[in-house]
Amino acid sequence: MYQMKLSRSAAHEPVRGYWYRVCETCYKSREGYNDHNGFIRDHTQSFAAVRRRRVDKQTLEISRLEKRLTKLTHVLANPPSEAPLNGGGSLLSPVPSLNGQRSQRKILEQSVVTWEEDAKVSRCPFCQQEFGSWTFRRHHCRICGKVVCADPQTACSSEVGLNVANTSLAPSEKSEGGSMYVDIRMCRDCKFTIFAKRDFIESTMQKPPNQRAYETLRQFERGIELLLPTFQRALLPLQDENNPPNHAQIQEAAKLRKRLTDSFTKYDVAARRIRDMKADNPSQQRLQRAIYQAASSFLHMHMLPLKTLPRLLKHKSSGSTKSHLTPNGHVTGPLRQGDVLETASQTSEGSTVVSALETEERDLRERLIVLEEQKYMVQKMISASRGARRFEEVSALTRNVEELDKEIEAANAQVSGVEQRWQGLYVNGGLIPP
Ligand SMILES: [Zn+2]
Ligand SMILES: [Zn+2]
Ligand SMILES: [Zn+2]
Repeated sequence: MYQMKLSRSAAHEPVRGYWYRVCETCYKSREGYNDHNGFIRDHTQSFAAVRRRRVDKQTLEISRLEKRLTKLTHVLANPPSEAPLNGGGSLLSPVPSLNGQRSQRKILEQSVVTWEEDAKVSRCPFCQQEFGSWTFRRHHCRICGKVVCADPQTACSSEVGLNVANTSLAPSEKSEGGSMYVDIRMCRDCKFTIFAKRDFIESTMQKPPNQRAYETLRQFERGIELLLPTFQRALLPLQDENNPPNHAQIQEAAKLRKRLTDSFTKYDVAARRIRDMKADNPSQQRLQRAIYQAASSFLHMHMLPLKTLPRLLKHKSSGSTKSHLTPNGHVTGPLRQGDVLETASQTSEGSTVVSALETEERDLRERLIVLEEQKYMVQKMISASRGARRFEEVSALTRNVEELDKEIEAANAQVSGVEQRWQGLYVNGGLIPP
């Protein structure tokens, strides 16, 4: 049963209406049904519009001042040759050439912006300090032309050093290569307008070294997290007892394992770099240590599935030596053996201990294959001799087989010794040296 408040004209009227029974359609199609958020009025657009007007004005002001600065530096770096070289006062000055250059620069600067008259300004507009005729001198902002003081303590104006590319070298400026160094006095406002945004953007781009190192670490971590599921999927067919894995599957798993081992090594190096980084303060030091600890626990947790693979491959290979070297499967035996050894050698680059052990094992297994093949050949010869009723040959060959059996037994013992060392290596977590 549905009820809602209705007006006289049977429209939904939640405030002044009266309760009436209604059908489900009317109940659910009323305005505001199932609305759990209430009414939403979005002011973002209007705020953005107001803000945009302000930002646009600022951008305009920045570009206006930047243009003026560009013009000024260009004029200073490439002074026009027809400019009057000797300004007024050359007769009075004891150093006429320097004075001449100074006034030439002043003329150039004033061609960009008209300077405010000294007499009109008695106090600095920023710090309100009174100007004197000699002690507290007036200066001009080269960008807006206003009179300001040059008190370094209030920083009402300052000289900003700029590197300007120039085509002709002016003798008065310190030059270096194709660019020229120019000092330009700016008032506080102009300097802020021109450089604040740029400085801010630059400061956000610059990252402290430990943050950059941490981002590198996280990148490796993400790479490992992406690679692990793929690797685990590749491991599944290798664990199937009834369905022995084929060459491609083993190779794929070994390839992934190699990539993972490399990633782990890089990750470990990155974590160590953060731990050993010079810290400015104790809390920084603590942070770096905490990152390293988190990284090493990540490493321990995710390296477990990696450790199971070589044992898996080993298990398969030792099993195949016996099961596939029967007369029927003789051809497949050595081939399969080759498969496993090939993949094992591919993964050996992670550590020298591992690769040394792998080489030793490979040599032993190759020797074992040769012995088993010899034994197989001799057994074939025995049955042939028996068929031909050459019994002296049979007894001699049987002795041969017995000798081969002894050698095979010795080789097998050596292989199991190597396998035990493999186990020890993984139990101690020897893949990456501590
Ligand atoms: Zn209805
Ligand atoms: Zn001042
Ligand atoms: Zn200014």
